[in-house]
Amino acid sequence: MTSRRLFFKNSLALGLTHNVLGKPFDSEPVDYAAKAREIHKTAILFDGHNDLPWQLREQGQIDFQKVDLATKQSLPYQTDIPRMRQGGLNAQFWSVYIPGKHPNPLRTVLEQIDIVHRMIQRYPNDFEQAFTAADVRRIAKSGKCASMIGVEGGVAIENDLSMLRILYSLGTRYMTLTHNQTLDWADAATDKPKNDGLSPFGVRVVKEMNRLGMLVDISHVSVSTMSDVLDSSKAPVIASHSSAFALCPHPRNINDDILRRLRTNGGLVMINFFSSFIVPGAAAKVAAKQADIQKTTNDKTEVKKQLEAWLATQPELFGTIHTVVEHIEHVARVAGVDHVGLGSDFDGINRWPKGLDSVADFPKITEELLRRGHSETNVRKILGENALRVLAQAEKVARQMQSEIKPEIDPPVTVDTDH
Ligand SMILES: [Zn+2]
Repeated sequence: MTSRRLFFKNSLALGLTHNVLGKPFDSEPVDYAAKAREIHKTAILFDGHNDLPWQLREQGQIDFQKVDLATKQSLPYQTDIPRMRQGGLNAQFWSVYIPGKHPNPLRTVLEQIDIVHRMIQRYPNDFEQAFTAADVRRIAKSGKCASMIGVEGGVAIENDLSMLRILYSLGTRYMTLTHNQTLDWADAATDKPKNDGLSPFGVRVVKEMNRLGMLVDISHVSVSTMSDVLDSSKAPVIASHSSAFALCPHPRNINDDILRRLRTNGGLVMINFFSSFIVPGAAAKVAAKQADIQKTTNDKTEVKKQLEAWLATQPELFGTIHTVVEHIEHVARVAGVDHVGLGSDFDGINRWPKGLDSVADFPKITEELLRRGHSETNVRKILGENALRVLAQAEKVARQMQSEIKPEIDPPVTVDTDH
């Protein structure tokens, strides 16, 4: 027996199926793409963050006569029904986003929710609104996309817990506490701190979310806010669209200390595909180039044109499917494979890895995970089972809290000033 064959034999005896390069020892070529397609037929792919409602609004096309999602759309759209079906996307948290500083936050977020509701009504064979983890399983099984709502920006509640409860009643099942701006009650990752994390009112928001069964989303918040949320939340928390800070030190990402705490909390990081959050230094390089261009012209269209021409010469700033998978693997290593998922941020990003152009491309991630030797069970967890577990656990905590604590029968009818 050659030393090479002996190595193979010993490795197999140890239960190893892949060599150091991630290649299987089995000499038979494996068609990973076919295997990925097969898994997607029965797996629940539950993506944590898609900004289609805001994209429709930005493009001035919130009328489904103007944008017919039943037909394939071109850029900037990354989501439509044909590509959703191609990618096996059968559960989605539709983000209803609201900029951190906005004159009418609640009204704008309600308009966004209305877009999701109208989309579901317009395409009843393709979408159905889901309110519970059990709904998601049933709807996905029926061949439709189980649609949940995630409010992006706690500014939407206008410092009033009654508004939080109204948003829940409309189907909101997670709320990202902040967007890029610090609020009265929660500090953002990309703004000056005001509260060193959560204010006392911020803690009340988290507890009320727990009581309702609405997931607390720590994407966009500062590390102190993440830490305060983990101290106060009785339910597992999620980062609906964030990547690993250790691989790409951007303030929007999740550091290893928080990842370790998420393991204890039972929560989940859903990996964001945005190039600036996965390729180290990419955000700073793009910002520096943009500043350079702005020294020569103030014309926004011209700045965009020149920046895009330059970006076309910088492929390394976009990352690849491998880059995304490395973030998944890092979170799986530090927090555990039960604590990682996918939060693409499609339709909310302007740069993404080559090959991950739209919702049609999710199976390429599955293919790469399989090629690297991840088991089918773990792949299913990453695609959606982890998100479903977290949601079901949050529902259980809500039931417990509702039975133990007397519900607030006199909710504040005016703006709560205790923040
Ligand atoms: Zn976001």
